[in-house]
Amino acid sequence: MSVYVFGHKNPDSDTVCSAIALADLKSKLGTACTPVAQGELPPETNFILEKFGVAAPAVKTSFAGEKVYLVDTSDLAQLPDDIKEAEVLGIVDHHKLGDLTTSSPLECWIWPVGCTATVINAMYKFHGIEIPKNIAGIMLCAILSDTVIFKSPTCTPADKEASAALAKIAGVSDLEALGMEMFKVKSAVEGTPARELVLRDYKDFDMSGTKVGIGQLEVVDLSILDAVKNDLAADIAALKAEKGAHSIFLLLTDIMKEGSEILIASEDIAVVEKAFGVKPADGKAWLPGIMSRKKDVVPKFEKVFA
Ligand code: MN
Ligand code: MN
Repeated sequence: MSVYVFGHKNPDSDTVCSAIALADLKSKLGTACTPVAQGELPPETNFILEKFGVAAPAVKTSFAGEKVYLVDTSDLAQLPDDIKEAEVLGIVDHHKLGDLTTSSPLECWIWPVGCTATVINAMYKFHGIEIPKNIAGIMLCAILSDTVIFKSPTCTPADKEASAALAKIAGVSDLEALGMEMFKVKSAVEGTPARELVLRDYKDFDMSGTKVGIGQLEVVDLSILDAVKNDLAADIAALKAEKGAHSIFLLLTDIMKEGSEILIASEDIAVVEKAFGVKPADGKAWLPGIMSRKKDVVPKFEKVFA
């Protein structure tokens, strides 16, 4: 029986690439592992897997009675509904410790770095296992994606060191060019339904009992989103009603200008001003320097909702 390795709902490149890498490492260490994803892969991730010739993991959403390793999250809201019926063998992550608990001891590698792949790179090193060239390539891309080509405040020296080592193995010489290639794929929104864009990189949070959803779209130029912005605003309002949430926010992050426009659907629009000191107009606000949902946005809203 195979052990499944997967990350959060609405999978992103780190969740998928780190699941693949951890499954490779664990399999080589003697535990047969299969990487899976909790949903369809976003275009950026498909681009990465195709570029380095790695097969896309199957989609699997139920794990009752299975053994699993988790990557890139330990939050129940981002895990399968029946995760409590699975045996969690380990967690490799770079987020705040979530609310998952286990009945047996488990292996935990949770480091305050910019990407799960950075931790997995250290795990390969720890075990003295060589990283295959194609897996080094997708791990590198996961780091470039999560750290927004090293620009995110979540990026640490360890992420840069891991990237340099992985680039060497993968035979990549220009990291910036590879990063921009990825973010151009990520920026393509034409012909994509608003709901798909809202949910592409979306997470639900329980903030002191208040239901808050935060999505993020990272683009190389905010003007790419001009044509769809009204549809996105209408859709987060609809999503808020469907979910019975207090607030749904959508961050439109301009990775070159290094800031985010926040689209707001909320029972109390003042929470945005309380969190960021910026008065929204027309259901939106520009937040200079705000790039990371995890580091710049979630902690601020958690404080406001506490
Ligand atoms: Mn992630
Ligand atoms: Mn991550």
